Amino acid sequence: MTRIFRESDATLEPLQGKTIAILGYGNQGSAQALNMRDSGLSVIVGNADDDYAAQARNDGFATYSIAEAARRGDVVMLLLPDEVTPAIYNAAIRSGLSKGKTLSFASGYCVCFRQITFPADINVIMVAPRTMGGIVREDYLHGRGFLSFVDVHQDHDGRAWPITLALAKAIGSLKMYALHVTFKDETELDLLTEQALVPAIVSALKTTVETALKAGYPKVATVLELYLSGEMGDVLHAAAQRGLIGQTTMHSPTSRYGTHSRLPRFATPEYERNVQEILANIQAGNFALEWSSEQKAAYEHFDSMQQALRDSPFGQAEREVIHELEKAGVR
Ligand code: NDP
Repeated sequence: MTRIFRESDATLEPLQGKTIAILGYGNQGSAQALNMRDSGLSVIVGNADDDYAAQARNDGFATYSIAEAARRGDVVMLLLPDEVTPAIYNAAIRSGLSKGKTLSFASGYCVCFRQITFPADINVIMVAPRTMGGIVREDYLHGRGFLSFVDVHQDHDGRAWPITLALAKAIGSLKMYALHVTFKDETELDLLTEQALVPAIVSALKTTVETALKAGYPKVATVLELYLSGEMGDVLHAAAQRGLIGQTTMHSPTSRYGTHSRLPRFATPEYERNVQEILANIQAGNFALEWSSEQKAAYEHFDSMQQALRDSPFGQAEREVIHELEKAGVR
């Protein structure tokens, strides 16, 4: 049975009088720190003393080194990129995690792939928003809330669940709801989306744009038609509201017939095999190993792949269209 948590399932009491240390003031760190402070909690920030720390001070937070913030916090929230977290944890965070503290993750990655080991006398929990940091802040300010996946990995003192739900409430998630999803499922499903679905969408857009351009259609019309107008975003938004099937009634019969009649061409055994292989690779931990070695190689391969997409006819067309629309003052 799916466990769903709403506002009435949580109270902020487990966090009252406690210090919440936010480690990392990036996308999630800044949004969650601001939301928790607005919820009346005592929040400090840990970061290297650079632009992110300056931003946190500008936003009115006391800032410390990561090690000092971890030492001061009763609840320590790891809001650093997953691939750098294990090294920072071992060097600066672990020694500050004394008995009874709670360590919170915004993603299950490091726990799922056993990249970190914990003292036995702390709580280890996850509050993982299903949206970007900017939206976490915006939804809080509009009182809308957003979905989070929550889990407890280690319940040292029997308080781990009340603390988890208190954090979900304090960042504003429970105004919508939170769902119990294990660290493992959160991580593997997230990676599957990023590796099997998103590349298929990017590849479909790239191939369709390049085919239309080769056929002589104007650049601006092509790129706007395919995604830059926001129509595709509206379709996905409608799918989130009504379901992918439910939203089809919002399209014309011509559009629906075209989509349904051509769908089998894209549901190929090769794509299915790819998705299965990608999932098996994630589950075996091979992707995590690959990503760690990429990080050790200073992201050399990653940078060159990003550059190749930017330099492709698709990337060039996108740049030119955005530039033209900006010059015309309509973007
Ligand atoms: P960001 O990339 O925005 O984090 C940047 C922060 O991490 C900065 O404060 C930066 O400080 C610090 N940082 C980066 N590298 C290092 C390093 N080597 N040593 C010390 N600090 C470092 O991360 P996100 O907010 O995107 O992600 C944080 C967590 O939230 C992750 O676990 C992610 O999976 C999860 N999450 C993210 C979502 C998103 O949409 N972005 C959605 C849901 C969960 P500095 O550069 O000064 O060191």
